[in-house]
Amino acid sequence: MPLDVVQLLSDLVRIPSVNPMGRDVSGAEYMEYAMTEKLAAVFQEMGLPYFMQEVAPLRTNIVARLEGDPAAGVTVFEAHQDTVPVEGMTISPWEPETRAGRVYGRGACDIKGGMACMLTALARLAEERPAGMPTVVMACTVNEEYGYAGATAMARGWASGDAPAMPALPNAVIVAEPTLLDVVVAHKGVARWCCHTQGKAAHSSMPHLGDNAFYRMARVLAAIERYAKDVAPTLGDHPLVGGPTLSVGVIQGGISVNTVPDQCTIEIDRRVIPGEDARQAYQQVVDFIAQETAGDPLVIHDPPYIASNGLDIGRNADLASRLGEVARAQGGGGRNIGVPYGTDAPAFDEIGAPTVVFGPGSIDQAHTCDEWVEIDQLHKATEIYYQFGKMGWPSSPAPA
Ligand SMILES: [Zn+2]
Repeated sequence: MPLDVVQLLSDLVRIPSVNPMGRDVSGAEYMEYAMTEKLAAVFQEMGLPYFMQEVAPLRTNIVARLEGDPAAGVTVFEAHQDTVPVEGMTISPWEPETRAGRVYGRGACDIKGGMACMLTALARLAEERPAGMPTVVMACTVNEEYGYAGATAMARGWASGDAPAMPALPNAVIVAEPTLLDVVVAHKGVARWCCHTQGKAAHSSMPHLGDNAFYRMARVLAAIERYAKDVAPTLGDHPLVGGPTLSVGVIQGGISVNTVPDQCTIEIDRRVIPGEDARQAYQQVVDFIAQETAGDPLVIHDPPYIASNGLDIGRNADLASRLGEVARAQGGGGRNIGVPYGTDAPAFDEIGAPTVVFGPGSIDQAHTCDEWVEIDQLHKATEIYYQFGKMGWPSSPAPA
């Protein structure tokens, strides 16, 4: 059953799969379950066995296997099922529009476009079954946009050796993200958490009877600013992704102008470079703030709600050069690059599977109010995935 990549992408965009991003929201557009059902139907039509792994209610990873030559190894195509929310979009998010050589809609670029390319390549491989092709596995994860929980659960299953879809580690994992057909071999990771300051409420006409949680937070913020300016630049500089960063993106507190606030909360974002451990980086910042605020017990840090390490070139070097060659031959960029954003890739790299990030479209159009992807990129990516998917791996066993 040959697939048309633009048609398939349009079908995928029509199925909302919005990540709630940690907010307490509900509605039919949230979670990935409808996408998972669609993917099951697509795999069924291709005649491929597929396997489900529930990660959370309404959030299920799905993995399909196209068996190839057992001596040719295993190649994984990976794409996440979720999208970011749609508030503020200036186009209709779930009514895809094809115009001016582009497909518009939420997820068109990140990453239903890449997913449609992978599925189209997989369908062609399933139809043609080229001699000597490896087993090709299509893995579709949940909750990429808010913590990589799907990929983490999937990789854990693969590493355990008793996941039915992946009895041994694969030779290669290609994670779809909009890279403009360059090969991302390194990227940053991130730790994110909430920090609270406490105080004592009082009437604003008698502030001396209270203890202002904002003033306490101001001292925390000043410490964070010093860390970002003076400490972070001393912690290393990766040739492909640069240095670590620290930023505060959310601040909340206060009930009225005439009440001394007894609570303030901020959200902190610490980007780690490859080689740094996200949890250790979190602890470093917490310790620095404690030191700068004289160990104030009314400054309280939650544990990180996201702690994901970066991806580094190393294990993936051979995969990257093979994929880069295929990409260049098909008119893609094919350069080895590093990027500042995080992806599902480290989850697979950390269990020992060579992993790169590669896909159609530009990250500049991901998460935007008029998200789109170029159709030319879709066709090129599909061909590259197909050509790469045909290539067997040397008969040495998969890396341990
Ligand atoms: Zn993405």
